[in-house]
Amino acid sequence: MNFFSGIAASRGIAIGKAHLYNYKFQVPKYNISDIQIDAETDRFYDALRKVEQDYKKLKMDLEKEASEDTAKLFDGSILLTKDHTFINEVLTRLREDKKNIEWIVYDVSDTIFKKLIILDDEFFRDRAVDFLNFGKRLVNTMLLEKSQSLADIDSDVIVVSNDLAVSDTANMNRQHVLGILTELGGATSHVAIVAKSLKIPAVLGVKDICSKIKESDLLIVDGYSGKTFINPDEKTLIFYKKERERFENSEKKFLSIREKPSVTLDNRAIALKVNMEIPYQEIDLAMDVGSDGVGLYRSEFLYLSNKDKKLPSEEQQFNAYKFILEKFSPKPVTIRTIDLGGDKILEGYTERELNPYLGYRAIRLSLDKPKMFRDQLRALYRASIYGNLQIMFPMITGVDELAKIYKEIQNVKKELTKNSIPFSNDVKVGTMIETPSAAMLSDFICAKSDFVSIGSNDLVQYTLAVDRNNDRVSYLYQPLHPSVIRMLKLIIDGAHKANIKVSVCGEMGGDMKGLLIFIGLGIDEVSTGVNNIDLVKKIIRSVNYSEVKDLVDSLFIFDETSKIEKELDKWISKHLKHLI
Ligand code: PEP
Ligand code: MG
Repeated sequence: MNFFSGIAASRGIAIGKAHLYNYKFQVPKYNISDIQIDAETDRFYDALRKVEQDYKKLKMDLEKEASEDTAKLFDGSILLTKDHTFINEVLTRLREDKKNIEWIVYDVSDTIFKKLIILDDEFFRDRAVDFLNFGKRLVNTMLLEKSQSLADIDSDVIVVSNDLAVSDTANMNRQHVLGILTELGGATSHVAIVAKSLKIPAVLGVKDICSKIKESDLLIVDGYSGKTFINPDEKTLIFYKKERERFENSEKKFLSIREKPSVTLDNRAIALKVNMEIPYQEIDLAMDVGSDGVGLYRSEFLYLSNKDKKLPSEEQQFNAYKFILEKFSPKPVTIRTIDLGGDKILEGYTERELNPYLGYRAIRLSLDKPKMFRDQLRALYRASIYGNLQIMFPMITGVDELAKIYKEIQNVKKELTKNSIPFSNDVKVGTMIETPSAAMLSDFICAKSDFVSIGSNDLVQYTLAVDRNNDRVSYLYQPLHPSVIRMLKLIIDGAHKANIKVSVCGEMGGDMKGLLIFIGLGIDEVSTGVNNIDLVKKIIRSVNYSEVKDLVDSLFIFDETSKIEKELDKWISKHLKHLI
């Protein structure tokens, strides 16, 4: 039995067989002889036919699942299977280079991709991505591999990977993924967030784990402590099976409070909302927990989960937003415009950068791509008549960005009015405060926002200059750091001075100590993943606001995280012992 330790990223115990998953795309390259050219040509034509069938099937599936318009997106891909220029280029290169056909196809499609992706025209950039995906599908088909995707998993497994892409998790088959184990990643990475939302136990940041595990090894993943066991002995297995049962029962313990309001013992109401990423997988869980609405829908997941890696059309977005608004109506649903970039890579639009979190991300991308932004705003406003919509913007650093956003909103509204397309006039527009700059300017920003929401995941990383995804510096990622708490006070006081509501939608709001800080500072709303809602409500209903306020006020004399933690621990063991 081998035992390893990592970052406990999503609560729960998973016991199951390992499935090694690596999204890195590797293509073999070797020489062939003249007499092999005909056979390689036949393999190429067979693969073209097979890929054409695959696309046709995907199109039919989408016609059933989404709209006809969305399904039509596959027409272009189907045409690629008959593209004479591409086919002739591949066959010429095959004869000239005398390399295996998979390599030639990969190289030709990659060259076309690189030529098109740099053109300053979205049509060609879309085609570039089409070509890349088409090339990969052809190569995979020729390698007789199923296009590897977590959506294809059809038996219960624990997914083991070097670095899972967020887009992988967006398509993952939740029914069969028992647990997640990765070499890279942090507790507030988006892989961790999705795992929590889907209630999948996860341990991240276990160094070199992939090299130690073979396909189908038996694993235990302990999402509480971060422990991982490979081929455990009988005693450990029995212990963890009991722990798993205990975990499931402890979850049930809270079910009775779902109908009760989220209010402190001394009657201070704190609205409790859910965060969502993948509505079609999460909606039942989210509706069941008895929330006051959706405090954060990370709309970029719609882009990341799009089957053919294309941007979702306005129509597709409209349908997705309408779906979630109708489900929760009349409760508010806060939809955040796309936050791509950072660890959320959308091929062809964002890429791995040197400093991904300081780069081309979130609102910067939206403002740089007016058509993309306008499509999203149009879809949102069109959907607004189906429920109680609030729109929120990520990664704002100053009021100049707000001015640009509001101008776009005015343009979209004017256009809809001109075309007699209905939309609601009651849509509230809010700002995420997740950069130190926005926090320092919270008086100005709050004066120009209907509400604000604190993105503590980013605010902590930017305040402390610690990459939230980097397990090597995870010990420095301290949400209870004195500088963070000062920053939070500034934001919450700023919002209240401007007479607007302030919520928290980062992971810190779902953690017992973090939540106490927010309650004490006077937060109006908490939005958290479905897996935390019951516990958060239980905590809110177990404390007196006035006492928590005194506690938090007393923390400002401390200059180190450890001292603050110690005070909170003391308080928790006195007042919330029953919940630990
Ligand atoms: C945050 O930063 O706290 C947040 C909620 O946004 P995300 O985790 O998607 O960056
Ligand atoms: Mg954020």
